[in-house]
Amino acid sequence: MQLTVLGTSAPFPVPGNACSGYLLRSGGPVASDAAGSALSLPMAGPVAPDARPTSLWIDAGTGTFAELQRHLAPGDLDAIFVSHRHADHTADLLVASYAYRFSTAPALAARGSRRIPVFGPEGLAERLAEYLGPTALAGLESVFEFTELHGWGEARVGDLDLSWGPVSHGVPAFGLTVVERGASAPAAAAATAAAVPAAAAASASATATAAAVPAAAAPASASAAADGAPGAGAAAASGTGGVAAGTPRTAFTYSGDTAPCISLVELAEESATLLCEAGYDVAPSGSGEAASGEYVHCTPEDAGRQATEAGVRMLVLTHIAENLAPAAAVARARTTFAGDIRAAKSGATFTV
Ligand SMILES: [Zn+2]
Repeated sequence: MQLTVLGTSAPFPVPGNACSGYLLRSGGPVASDAAGSALSLPMAGPVAPDARPTSLWIDAGTGTFAELQRHLAPGDLDAIFVSHRHADHTADLLVASYAYRFSTAPALAARGSRRIPVFGPEGLAERLAEYLGPTALAGLESVFEFTELHGWGEARVGDLDLSWGPVSHGVPAFGLTVVERGASAPAAAAATAAAVPAAAAASASATATAAAVPAAAAPASASAAADGAPGAGAAAASGTGGVAAGTPRTAFTYSGDTAPCISLVELAEESATLLCEAGYDVAPSGSGEAASGEYVHCTPEDAGRQATEAGVRMLVLTHIAENLAPAAAVARARTTFAGDIRAAKSGATFTV
């Protein structure tokens, strides 16, 4: 899979860096990624259905819809995953809905009458509609197909199997693990298909279906998937994380916004790559936020510990505290994680 960073800035966008947002695509490197807008790139044109990668927009922070268009014709987007309702992760859904509803540009028209699945926390659609106006919900639901996240769950979107679980952020918030189906991980496809209704498993790519699963089922499913996967498809980056030789991993995990928590470790325990927030320079302690139990982000050291406990190969730090230089954050995470560590940067693409 290819992970492209659309923005990492928190909690507001700055010139050259949008708020939180990522584009995850199935398959290998995308040759047509380049500076400029996808609106004028060849990939906006017709592509054989089987050749087109599945594209997932993860978090719609302010400014990320514009960045998305550098890499993808928005009409080709397969689904959206929103980790939680904070504005720096959701605001661009408002303008994206305008684009899908009202634009006649070819890059948008490729959607046709298909509604784009949006996976997000409870009440997301109503919150967006409340801002847009009293009759806006129907308009939103004419272009987006909302699926509310409750606890652990999973869904299939084209070539991608999604599983999510609740993380610790003071509001309903979810981490996400994605496994690519196909030749590189046939066992993953088989394992996950068992948990998806038969009708959904047989449906065409780009169709998403959600199925609630018990708390223990999501990690177990991910485990079954990765345990049987062959060597191809593991993270491109080398590292010295806790992954034993002979147990290649094909999954990718995103923390969303969260304090250190066991759910995140469980989500990432079969993943090769963990994209983890590092929103704290200094963790609250003894007073203020900590006194009220509101430890809601990770320090770089926390992110490293989560990566070590999960045994991933590569840690990508994102959503880094505004007063913390990325290089300093990487150095601090290195004190708690021995694997490969990168800092997410707007426009960068990682093979995960
Ligand atoms: Zn947040």
